[in-house]
Amino acid sequence: MFLDIHISGTSGSESESVIHHFNLLALLLFDSKSYGKILELYFRLYHLCANKEALVSEYGRWVNESWVWDLVWRRALFDREREATNELISAISSVTPIAGNKDGWIWKAASDGKYSTKLAYACIEEHKNRSALAPTVKDLLKMWGTATLQKARVAAWRVLRNRMPTCDNLKMRNIPLDEVDSMCSACFQHNESTNHLFLLCPKTEKVWDEIQRWLGLSTIRPQLVTTHFESFTNLGMGKKNEKFLTALWMCTVWQLWKRRNDCRFDGKAWETKKLFFEIKAIMWSWVKIFNLLDVEPSFAS
Ligand SMILES: [Zn+2]
Repeated sequence: MFLDIHISGTSGSESESVIHHFNLLALLLFDSKSYGKILELYFRLYHLCANKEALVSEYGRWVNESWVWDLVWRRALFDREREATNELISAISSVTPIAGNKDGWIWKAASDGKYSTKLAYACIEEHKNRSALAPTVKDLLKMWGTATLQKARVAAWRVLRNRMPTCDNLKMRNIPLDEVDSMCSACFQHNESTNHLFLLCPKTEKVWDEIQRWLGLSTIRPQLVTTHFESFTNLGMGKKNEKFLTALWMCTVWQLWKRRNDCRFDGKAWETKKLFFEIKAIMWSWVKIFNLLDVEPSFAS
């Protein structure tokens, strides 16, 4: 928290630089803001790294005296992994080596960068006081709610415009996928497409069945996600519930996508019941936080 690594120039091969003594693990820990979390965040990328034992100096190169990170992977990255790579590069780009300077440690709490026990004690005391002003559970819930709602909105927007990196969409972008990789990760019976994954897959159908049962509805579901969205959000339950149903639809497709990724990339089981309970739990928290069920003021008689 208070200590940082000051990486300087290592363009000369004879340099006894700190940069030579760190491996990828250290590289992933460079972002001090996410201290301790960054390896967890980029755990998958760590496994995809072509050479985990390489030194930091091997993960980049000097271009006109500027350091450029150059990470190498075992295979072509999927969209989600590419997004994570961009995030990682932007996180580690805060570390900018300067050609010609010696490496060393910096005590961030001191303006001159030098460590002293007295200052360390003052820092610990200040941190303790700051912890007392930590956000309340309500604040955290509100923050979590805003973040999750935004994620669900983005997912729903991508689903409705067929912009999700489903297998059929990846193939359309000339990303090679063999027959096994192209299969739906939930049922392993059909090729994965937006309409299949979010609506027609037998496993997905069970999730929508549970949701309809929860709402006390039995309607025939359309075969396209776009028409399903329209009919689901206008289920004849009254205008006041439109907001809730829109949020529920967004939450469901977002959770379906997350579960699909868990199955595809982490080998997890589908578990319809668990998925449905998670959707319900998120919806209850949203209702509580955003008062989704509040009736909008109406001038109609
Ligand atoms: Zn399927």
